[in-house]
This record gives sequence, C-alpha cells and structure tokens, in this order.
Amino acid sequence: MKPETIALHGGFDGDPTTKAVAVPIYQTVAYSFDSAAHGAALFDLEAEGYRYTRIANPTVDVLERRVAMLEGGIDALAVASGQTAMYYTMLNLAEPGQNIVSVPQLYGTTHTIFAHILPRQGIKVRLAKSDRPAELEALIDEDTRALFCETVGNPAGNICDLEALAAIARRARIPLVVDNTVPTPVLLKPIDYGADIVVHSLTKFLGGHGTSLGGAIVDSGRFAWTEHADRFPRLTQPDDSYHGLVYTDHYGAKAFLGRARSVFQRTIGAVLSPFNAFLLLQGIETVSLRVERHVENARRVAEFLRADPRVTSVAYAGFPDSPYYALCQKYLRGRACSLMTFTIRGGADGGTRFYDALKLFKRLVNLGDAKSLACHPASTTHRQMSPEEQRQAGIGPETMRLSVGIEHIDDILEDIDQALARATASSP
Ligand code: PLP
Repeated sequence: MKPETIALHGGFDGDPTTKAVAVPIYQTVAYSFDSAAHGAALFDLEAEGYRYTRIANPTVDVLERRVAMLEGGIDALAVASGQTAMYYTMLNLAEPGQNIVSVPQLYGTTHTIFAHILPRQGIKVRLAKSDRPAELEALIDEDTRALFCETVGNPAGNICDLEALAAIARRARIPLVVDNTVPTPVLLKPIDYGADIVVHSLTKFLGGHGTSLGGAIVDSGRFAWTEHADRFPRLTQPDDSYHGLVYTDHYGAKAFLGRARSVFQRTIGAVLSPFNAFLLLQGIETVSLRVERHVENARRVAEFLRADPRVTSVAYAGFPDSPYYALCQKYLRGRACSLMTFTIRGGADGGTRFYDALKLFKRLVNLGDAKSLACHPASTTHRQMSPEEQRQAGIGPETMRLSVGIEHIDDILEDIDQALARATASSP
C-alpha cells in the first residue's frame, strides 16, 4: 500500500467482534484470564493476548502497526510522548560508561536529556559541532552505542545526510537512530536510507490537530543484534528482570522493541492512553493531504519573507542557495518542510514585536498543528541551552520559528505582513 492508503487502513481491517469500521477505543486497564494457566502463559509470553494496558492495548496496537507501516519498519512501540520514545530508546541501547554521538541541532528538551539527564545516569552524549558526517564519525569510539540525529532539525531546518550517517554507523557497528518528527514519513522514510531505529513525536504533524501527546519507536528490523552481541548483551543474554528471557531468542528481529516494551514500558509505564491513540489515528488518516498543503504554504511564506526588505534572513532548505538544498532534493524530493526560521530588522527586539503583533499565528511551543504557529525558541523551547549551544542548534535571540499551517495562504501572508509592519514601523 502507498502511504495515503496505509494512513487510512494500515493495521486495521475492521473490529473482529463488532465489525466497527472506526478503530474502537478499548478504554480498559486490564483483560481477564480464562484460568490461572492462561494468565501464566500470557506472562510467560507463550500465549498471544493482552494482560494490562501498561504493556499493550488493542487500540494502541493499531496505531503501532500503522506508524510502523508508514515508516517501513517491522514494528513499533507507541508511548506517552515523543520524549518518552527518545528516552526509552537511549536507555535500551546504552549502559553507564557508554556513550551516544549526536548532531547538535536538536529539539531543546532532547538536548536537555542529552546534556543533563543521561550523563547523570552514567551515559555521556557527545555532541558534534555540526551535522557534518566526518565530525560525528570522529567522536565515535569503542563505547559508543548509537549515532543520533533529527532527520530535519527543530528549529534549524537542517537536513542530515542519512546515507552518510548510516555508513558511519555500520562501520562502527552501532545503530543509526533518527527522530523523524518534522518531515514525517510522508516526506521522508529514513529506513530507506539506512536508519535502524526511528523515533517520533506523534504530537506534531502525524496527529496534526494539536489535541494529543504521543510518541513512537519504530524498528527497521535490520540491525543484527546477535552479530554484535558483545555490544548489546542486554538483548542477547538472559534478562534476570524478566525470568531469564533472551530477547533475541524470543523476539528475533523484533528484540529491540520486545525489550523496550518488557522492561521500560512495563516498569516505567509512560503509556499512551487508548483515547489518545484513537485521536492520533484520526489525525494520521489525513496526514498526506495536510503535509502537501503545509509544504506548499511554507514555500509561499518563505518566498514572501525572502522578498521582503524588512526581513534580514530566512532559513529554508527549498532555496537553491541554502546549504541544505542538495540534501532537500535528495531526501525530501525538493519538498522543504513547513518549519522555518527567520530574522527581521531590529534584531531580537524586532522579533519580539513581530511575535506580539501576530493575530492568526498562535504564539506557543508546538509545531505541526494544522494551524499556523509561531515560537521564539531562545526564550522557550531552547531556553535551557547556553548561547553557544543555541548557536550550534541554529538559533539566536533574534530567531523566530514558524510552523506554517494549512489555512488559506492569503490569510497567512496577510498576518505576517501586518505583523512585520507593526514590528518594523519605528526601526531604521
Ligand atoms: N522531537 C522533536 C523534533 C520535537 O520537536 C519534539 C517536540 O517539540 C519532540 C521530539 C518531543 O515530543 P513530545 O512533545 O511529544 O514529547
């Protein structure tokens, strides 16, 4: 099936009990056992079925299958938020004393996990100075357990050279983990270019309506854990926290997600509620159409901003002179994302005046909603970073971020125009 079709039908062929066409919301905590033996068989993973919604739920299952199909993975684990997806993934790969290598252009809270949370748990994250593959490769050593990037960075809009990063990860015998939140699989399927694990904030474009937090981890199924058993013994050796289970023996190619579910989801329990899964599924049904419109509206906004003398810079990968133009052609087939940053006359003060003058754009910290959204990263999403870390992430105090929505383009441009007029009225 093509993505447009998967978005509507993937992972669900009607409810087996009622023949309901919409995915039913199984709003239940637990599932009854036929007998003591049945319960034990479920807990021993010998029988198929549900036990408790912290471990699995039929509504959430449909979402997992659909997201996995959209990304071309073998399976997915849906969790409470994009941040949970990222955190579980890293905990599932690295142990104290080991490290992760990452690009510096990151969503602010991912940066916080990398710079502050994982190091306190003994896992160092080495941030390269740029997204140039050679700089990342230079940071990898024998203790590195993952190479990480956002396929399209938030908010920098940088596009990572996935094939080059995948080749580096293969040489280093580690998985390439990517956050594909910004482009979504509609614009880019990282597994096609060698990514091993894809994480998502479903909260953004996939959900699309700004109603529900959610996250997902998708496994390509390609990383050969057993061939690298010396590096990932937690997957290939008996787990004493789960009565001696060997994940690679039990789950085969799905070992990574099997452990993420059995260890982190089961014990920490940052679970996606069935109701959120239902709402996210409603959003996913229209993701292809929405993204098409987001991309087209963003192109018009970028061109408008660039032609305007009140605007001093626009970072948009769709411009032929963008450093990311060639990568945009290669990985996104020229469809630059609807997330962009720009600066205006008057620097940080001008930017603040612009922000305050917006009428249609919502001032908030979110992206990928159907509505047009504006954010000032330095004072909000990326506030915890030092000025130098912000610069490496592609922002300064004057940077404004737009997530261009799917309203009529005339209304979007009119709002930007009037806000620019008010912001620059008194500046030279
Ligand atoms: N990844 C990216 C690229 C993001 O922009 C965000 C949030 O803005 C997240 C992950 C975190 O997602 P969530 O808010 O669902 O935890």
